[in-house]
Amino acid sequence: MRITKTDYMEYTLCPKNLWLKKHKPALFENIPLSDFQQEIILNGQIVDEASMILFPDGELATAKNIDQLHYSKQLVANENITIFQASFEWGNFFVRTDVLHFDQEMESWSLYEVKATNSVKKSPYSHIKDLTFQKLVLDANDITVGRVGVIHLDGDYRRVGDLDYRALFQETDVTADVLKMESIVSVEMTDLEKYLDGPEKPGCPCLYKGRSAQCPTFSYSNPFVPDYSVHNISRIGNSKKTLADWINRDIYSIDDIDNPEVLKGYQSFQHLAHIKGQAIIDSKEILKNIRDLEFPIHFLDYETYSSAIPEFDRFGPWQQIPFQYSIHVLKEDGSLEHKEYLITELSEDITFGLVERLSEDIYERGSVVVWYAPFEKTRNSELAALHSEYSDFLYKVNDRIFDLMKIFSDGYYVDPDFHGSNSIKSVLPVLVPDLLYTDLEIQTGSDAPVNWKKMMSLESGGTEQQVIEENLLEYCKLDSLAMVRIYEFLKNI
Ligand code: SF4
Repeated sequence: MRITKTDYMEYTLCPKNLWLKKHKPALFENIPLSDFQQEIILNGQIVDEASMILFPDGELATAKNIDQLHYSKQLVANENITIFQASFEWGNFFVRTDVLHFDQEMESWSLYEVKATNSVKKSPYSHIKDLTFQKLVLDANDITVGRVGVIHLDGDYRRVGDLDYRALFQETDVTADVLKMESIVSVEMTDLEKYLDGPEKPGCPCLYKGRSAQCPTFSYSNPFVPDYSVHNISRIGNSKKTLADWINRDIYSIDDIDNPEVLKGYQSFQHLAHIKGQAIIDSKEILKNIRDLEFPIHFLDYETYSSAIPEFDRFGPWQQIPFQYSIHVLKEDGSLEHKEYLITELSEDITFGLVERLSEDIYERGSVVVWYAPFEKTRNSELAALHSEYSDFLYKVNDRIFDLMKIFSDGYYVDPDFHGSNSIKSVLPVLVPDLLYTDLEIQTGSDAPVNWKKMMSLESGGTEQQVIEENLLEYCKLDSLAMVRIYEFLKNI
């Protein structure tokens, strides 16, 4: 069985998951790609682009209709200065290197891995282990590697005009880290071969972890665990001893918890709400929190876009670009006003129009309600740094922000049907069942930036562009309206 460096990296993340992928691939049909897999795809595109620009005279070792392993060896033997995507094997192990560059002074090869991250990652996905795996396979092929480096994005880079790849990417020398890691990776590679050759192991270690750590095959490996179980108790992954105690005593259902006194704060409210089958409500605290909100109350929601390679002037790698907002303004007389803005055209200063309109759409007085304040506050601070003429306004908006989510995350309203989550998508259908995201074309926060990017690439004024524009406006409008309806619900309890 061929074992690639991606397989090895998956093994370091979870051996059982890799075993299932290799032996029972049908289990993964119709399962959305994991963050790790999405990162691999994204990285692949960036590697090709960046490698060829940073090393302009390189030779690609993956031409069609050739034996790539043989051709890679040939290129190395000819001491070609730079080789892209060279392939090597060692027993079952297989690697395809991003960049191999011959250093004439050192008379050895430099091995580079290009990564779409702002720094060298040590965990959970370790760039060092990834490169050590590659170096060990190269060593076995008698290729002398004198230097190992990660070429990654520079988080401080800000685009001005054409992309400057040499400024956008920087190299971190990790040779010493890789040498130190060799013995560990070598042992892991031997273990990995044995593990994949062995029979399926029952269960899986995530039985002892909270829901957020588990992958979609959890229920296959642990069919006796209910869909809503002790693993769903808020932040239970941080209370390892408590969770381990329950699992070791076969306590999987929240109903079976026999020592609820170990649960703290929100966890105990969640447990109580589940046992009673009704919401736990601290109306005094809720009213104390919301009674000081000042009219007109603005309910604000941003949608943002980010990309590894900065696409717009003044933005850097992975920087969030607010491309849209929706504000519902609730007046003291009960009337509701809606304001919205969506960037639909490219301009030299992509967010200027949005900030300019925001300054008109937010009244000088009144609270600004958001869901999860750190997100909106950080966007405002970033916009303030970009648009100094509006920085005063944006910081004042931040001072007026009230986080509606805290009513729920602080445990003042805990419904058993929230299932331990405080996201607006979990709270809304329980408190305001008539307002549904499922009626919309765009249904999640991660779909919005994908649609915006598509819309921006289409011909202006075309039908498809107009449809996406309307869908984006509808989606963001529902986010701010959802907050209004939740606020009204709370006010009336
Ligand atoms: S649920 Fe966790 S331990 Fe089980 S296969 Fe998935 S990642 Fe691995």
